[in-house]
Amino acid sequence: MTKPKLTSVVTGGAGFLGSHLSDRLLAEGHRVIVLDNLLTGSMDNIAHLAGNPDFEFIKHNVTTAIRVPGPVDYIFHFASPASPIDYLELPIQTLKVGSLGTLNCLGLAKAKNAKFLTASTSECYGDPLQHPQTEEYWGNVNPIGPRGVYDEAKRFAEAMTMAYHRYHHIDTKIVRIFNTYGPRMRLRDGRVVPAFIGQALKGESLTIFGEGQQTRSFCFCSDLIDGIYRLSQGNYHEPVNIGNPTEFTILEFGKLVLKLTGSKSQMVYKPLPQDDPKQRRPDITKARKLLGWEPKIDLETGLRRTIDYFRDKV
Ligand code: UDP
Repeated sequence: MTKPKLTSVVTGGAGFLGSHLSDRLLAEGHRVIVLDNLLTGSMDNIAHLAGNPDFEFIKHNVTTAIRVPGPVDYIFHFASPASPIDYLELPIQTLKVGSLGTLNCLGLAKAKNAKFLTASTSECYGDPLQHPQTEEYWGNVNPIGPRGVYDEAKRFAEAMTMAYHRYHHIDTKIVRIFNTYGPRMRLRDGRVVPAFIGQALKGESLTIFGEGQQTRSFCFCSDLIDGIYRLSQGNYHEPVNIGNPTEFTILEFGKLVLKLTGSKSQMVYKPLPQDDPKQRRPDITKARKLLGWEPKIDLETGLRRTIDYFRDKV
């Protein structure tokens, strides 16, 4: 008799990262059930999976009770608004999906005796006073600032996940995702990668916030998903940073986008948003040791692929 397929539930599976993760799980031979309320996700991201007998989409808001029939082996909780402008516009939904949504997913994991992995974030470190950020750093978060709705929701999600692990012995994993980019990002989600590529392709000025001296480290989506898949297969329960440690200033990043698009766009300077982290770079020692993982795609290669994706979207 052939072994039954493993079943994975992916919340937020119609989003940027959730859809890439669903692709990877299907390629690994899983059945995949996506739960998404399409608040920031899009059916376009999973259109290619329609008709796949191992794939199912259920339109559902995971902040309300989750019911999935049959056995479930893995739950990947990726539902959440994730760009600063999204969570500024959707503060309550962001808090609810990180808190109630995580609680419901953990409840499902307990009921199904499933493994659970939650998408956390480098935002847990806030505007970090330690650089680069190791998992041991507790962060510098303003709980009541505009970004607090996302940061604190994710910090609560981590606390809830560890409580279910320690108290109910659920097999849980926590990935702290650093800035990730690639095809299927929304052109207008406000994040710097789609913003600059869209502006460059349309010949509009690139909007540099502040003086552009703040730094970020950009990871291509396939690298990130590989790290997450490896984490899900292991036995380590504390948070693990996954991201690319090569750091750029936003100004350097803007110049690279102009070079790769061949755009003649100018740069305009806009005010720096409140609590915008000044620097961010993951220390990935833990991921290297535990998962034998490190990113393979450099920024130029990944950006070329992302620019190609956006060319016919602008
Ligand atoms: N940023 C920018 N111009 C834009 C969008 C973003 O200069 O049009 C800056 C932003 O202030 C931040 C960095 O780019 O310092 C990354 O922003 P993003 O929204 O992509 O994500 P974050 O890392 O802040 O969550």
